Amino acid sequence: MPGRLHDSLKARLEIHGASVWGVADLDPLRRAKETGDALPEHLCRKYDRAVVMGVRLQDDVLEQIDDRPTPLYFHHYRQANFFLDRVAFDIARLLQDAGHSALAIPATQIISREPMRGYACHRLLGWAAGLGWWGRNNLLVHPAYGSRVRYVSVLTNAPLEAGRPLTDTCGECVECVSVCPAGAIHTSAKDFDVAACKAKLDEFARMRFVGQHICGVCVKACRGKGPGGRP
Ligand code: SF4
Ligand code: SF4
Repeated sequence: MPGRLHDSLKARLEIHGASVWGVADLDPLRRAKETGDALPEHLCRKYDRAVVMGVRLQDDVLEQIDDRPTPLYFHHYRQANFFLDRVAFDIARLLQDAGHSALAIPATQIISREPMRGYACHRLLGWAAGLGWWGRNNLLVHPAYGSRVRYVSVLTNAPLEAGRPLTDTCGECVECVSVCPAGAIHTSAKDFDVAACKAKLDEFARMRFVGQHICGVCVKACRGKGPGGRP
């Protein structure tokens, strides 16, 4: 039965055109104190797994970014989120129809400004599912696509086999460090300056034709090792 469900998920996600996906075990995350607001207990108490799905952002949109978001990137960001929300809606429906609890977490929906967060952190869930490592830019870095991927998640109690976090790291790469317009990225990922990044996003959100807390500069910088990426 778990194998059949996995195959059904795989087939449905291929139809949708998801670029990457994986399954996270929520138990170690629930027990880790440092996950805190990133995985609220009141939401995740009843679920054992998260199905995490990602879509690649389009290189030609990102290539137009210099040191700030563009109106084109804003539109692209919204389209990626619409796409992901539709995929998550359908996957939650598939899991529910198979007799399991399933809760689709919106791709982007801010429910708190201080600290800034949504219902759950897709980056954290993607990391737990083994989709990438935690980068110097405070984003998930997929081995092939870098940070040029957006994610969405469905929490579930379906008995799916979970992945494991990757052991890869940014290694010698420092591509994103010097380009950050806020100076928020440092050689140690632990030194990432959340406040400086947020202040810059607040500034960008006031830009005409943007109006949202987006940037795209360190997303563009992080290409991964796939075609056109770093070696
Ligand atoms: S989102 Fe922008 S401001 Fe924040 S770390 Fe990335 S490049 Fe810097
Ligand atoms: S650009 Fe390089 S240093 Fe920055 S997050 Fe990506 S892999 Fe890590």
